[in-house]
Amino acid sequence: MSTDRKIIIAVDGYSSCGKSTFAKAIAARLGYIFIDTGAMYRAVTLHALDRGAIRSGVVDEEAVCRLLDCIDISFRYNPERGASDIYVDGGLAEGRIRSLEVSNCVSAVSAIAAVRAKLVAMQQEMGRRRGVVMDGRDIGTAVFPDAELKLFMTADPAVRARRRYDELRAKGQEVSLEEIERNVVERDRADTTRTVSPLRRADDAIVLDNSHMTVDEQMEWFMEKYRAAVGK
Ligand code: C5P
Repeated sequence: MSTDRKIIIAVDGYSSCGKSTFAKAIAARLGYIFIDTGAMYRAVTLHALDRGAIRSGVVDEEAVCRLLDCIDISFRYNPERGASDIYVDGGLAEGRIRSLEVSNCVSAVSAIAAVRAKLVAMQQEMGRRRGVVMDGRDIGTAVFPDAELKLFMTADPAVRARRRYDELRAKGQEVSLEEIERNVVERDRADTTRTVSPLRRADDAIVLDNSHMTVDEQMEWFMEKYRAAVGK
């Protein structure tokens, strides 16, 4: 289904709510471009780990800022996944950015103002022609405060941790449910309390608590909001 009037759909919310899965499904349904902004913060974090700007979990902010001038982040569509894979300096980074090591450092990296300035500018450029579904933490508040449709996703922390655990185990990663739970809770704390663009619901965002909803049920809920937003 598509419409002549392309809009921006902002999908923000807590960690591991299924934002990307849902945003991807919306994009496929509408023929929109899906942009996973978390992948961009994860890519910078991976790069910082590889280049020694993070050691033993300690982020050297100045070193990360120096890396920003030369890091090259790009997306390439992968038809097998039905989504774009992220590349850092020309190398495929999609799998590695999802590791627990990156998850444990990404909130500290994303709290650095210069990191946010660089990535937000890239995201605004990617959405310039509209027709995008962008998921993250600050899309409806900072990246596209004028987005026509804003969703704020939330779910029970135990349900979220379980989903992330199942996802990582399915990919063969050796992780425990306890460490995933700790990471989800800690990232929510860091993301909601940081100084620059903290995670918060935009005043005009619609809340979706998907603790007990399937993707199909969420889609049905969404299409009603979408039709209202585009006036159909
Ligand atoms: O969405 P995902 O869980 O992959 O995001 C990883 C981290 O990147 C978040 O915990 C948050 O610290 C950061 N992030 C952000 N702003 C965004 C997207 C992600 O600060 N728009």
